[in-house]
Amino acid sequence: MINRKIVLVLVLFTSALFAQTSSSKELDAVYPDAHAFYLDLHQSPELSGHETGTASKLATKLRAHGFDVTEHVGRTGIVALMKNGTGSTVILRTELDALPVEEKTGLPYASKVHAKDDARHDVPVMHACGHDLHMASLLGAAEIMAKDKNSWHGTLILIGQPAEETISGAKWMIDDGLLKRFPRPDVIVALHVHNEAPAGVVGVAPGTYDANADSLRITIYGKGGHGSAPHTAIDPIVIAARTILALQTIPSREIKPGDMAVVTVGYIHAGNKNNIIPDDAELGLTVRTYKADVRKHVLAAISRITKAEAAAAGAPREPLIEHYESTDSVYNDPALAQHLKAVLESALGKSNVTMDDPITASEDFSQFVEQGIPGFYFSLGGADPAKFAEAKAAGTTLPSNHSSLFAPDAEPALRAGITAEVAVLRNLLNTPAEQLHQFISGSPAK
Ligand SMILES: [Zn+2]
Ligand SMILES: [Zn+2]
Repeated sequence: MINRKIVLVLVLFTSALFAQTSSSKELDAVYPDAHAFYLDLHQSPELSGHETGTASKLATKLRAHGFDVTEHVGRTGIVALMKNGTGSTVILRTELDALPVEEKTGLPYASKVHAKDDARHDVPVMHACGHDLHMASLLGAAEIMAKDKNSWHGTLILIGQPAEETISGAKWMIDDGLLKRFPRPDVIVALHVHNEAPAGVVGVAPGTYDANADSLRITIYGKGGHGSAPHTAIDPIVIAARTILALQTIPSREIKPGDMAVVTVGYIHAGNKNNIIPDDAELGLTVRTYKADVRKHVLAAISRITKAEAAAAGAPREPLIEHYESTDSVYNDPALAQHLKAVLESALGKSNVTMDDPITASEDFSQFVEQGIPGFYFSLGGADPAKFAEAKAAGTTLPSNHSSLFAPDAEPALRAGITAEVAVLRNLLNTPAEQLHQFISGSPAK
């Protein structure tokens, strides 16, 4: 009896060990390709909606691994499909775009690219959000999945989404038939690299992952005049100044402590000469919230305060408030997230998987979830572990995404990204769709 037990333990131990060895072997086999792709992408970033070169490179690589690739789904988007028998259908998504940021990392492979933005201005371009790392990770995962089709069955769909940074590309792909022209997924998965965790670590946030985002443009109307004669004018700059300060009382005085609300005035444009009172002033705002009722309250309060400040100053007309861009928070199905957390723990080690609090950034992955597809969006640590520990000890933070100094520690981050994606994909694809839907708890609590 004892002997049989020992044999069983030995068999289990050896098979666990074998699974480990085989997975690091398969990672080593694809890593050089993925890393070379990362370096290439990092040096050839493209702006949102202009990712033609990036999309065609990714399409070519995925085709070479046997994926059936359709290009131009939602302008520059791509869809790569691999059918491998019956089973669930899962999408893994990467973004394609970079940002108008001048890279100052000093890395040997730093971007030197300049391009014309949508307003035809020449701007520097950098993969300052790490989407190059996401694409390289997706390529590595794709290669492993294509090489070892015995380890999974079902339909794997990889998508390269354009224009995430302008929160528009997910909608472009959906509007162009992503969920109609291709098999409808049972689950959609994505990850995002960041500098708030060391490379090698992934984070899971069941429920709300990030924030609702609303972009507003406010034009405050005054009455222009001579700078020496303010009594003959109504100064829109003074109204704007009062408005900006008053808006800060929304999070601090109107929203229940503990509920998240951010109201940031990111620009103010008014006037062009010191002795002229201009006719109007323009403010650009970003608003972030988690809860739907808080969002509603903040947006209504912005309108109320802006109009009231203008009225208090005797403005000739009501301010114009344009709500020109918005996206909902990304919602992780809680039961699915808990299930996949365990999957990630067995792939990366328990100490390399953390629970994340919701972040205040936003992204349009939410558009897919709102189509009724359960989503799993997790974070990937990107910080050099030594620099991360140093910063933590000094009470400082490393450059965040979108910074000109954002430089993930590519090798450990990429290795963890590929390992995590493969583990999640294999698990989801090998779980029958009915079973997946059974433990998925349902729609977001909006
Ligand atoms: Zn970004
Ligand atoms: Zn990003």
